[in-house]
Amino acid sequence: MIGEHMKLIIASNNKGKIREYKQLLEPFGYDVVSQSEAGINIEVEETGTTFAENSALKARAIYDITKNAVLADDSGLVVDALNGEPGVYSARYGGCDNDKDRVDLILDKMKDVKDEDRTAHFVCTIHFIRENGEEIAVEGRVYGKIGYSPIGENGFGYDPIFMYNDKSFAQLSAEEKNSVSHRANALKALTEKLREQEGR
Ligand code: IMP
Repeated sequence: MIGEHMKLIIASNNKGKIREYKQLLEPFGYDVVSQSEAGINIEVEETGTTFAENSALKARAIYDITKNAVLADDSGLVVDALNGEPGVYSARYGGCDNDKDRVDLILDKMKDVKDEDRTAHFVCTIHFIRENGEEIAVEGRVYGKIGYSPIGENGFGYDPIFMYNDKSFAQLSAEEKNSVSHRANALKALTEKLREQEGR
């Protein structure tokens, strides 16, 4: 098994993300640490025009400094009726500095959009670099629809308006969301590739 007791730096300090990555990647022999636990104090500018470019930028910046195995992700919401917006600008859509304003902006822009045209998906890309510099890029998606008003108290970001079947993502428990989400699907794709490459 490659990577036994190897440190893996996650290019994030988000506790929820780190916990999820720990559970899924420790079986591969990686000792998962957050960016700050690894003592890395840089903020990589997300200047890419795609999710994949942004996750690669973040992973390479940290790999270049540390030569350590590193995982970076990027994610966001893609709304068909808005020509793919907010897309890579999900975290700063419309210049709004909070989730509620971003959600309201989308609802307002979509007030005349018919039910069948309200399709959307979340995307998550993961860029993984092994300690020897080998790179693995994967993507996960989840498809749903934009609702008409925010519903539910769980989750974060656009979850209250992302309708998955008859519930919003913010109405799902963490466990339910984590079994179907874009992030879960990207992680599945990554662990499959790691398993393939390591002959497990
Ligand atoms: P980042 O990948 O941490 O840069 O997140 C980008 C932005 O996409 C977040 O700030 C959210 O607005 C949105 N986003 C990503 N994943 C989710 C999710 O699972 N639910 C709701 N919003 C999300």
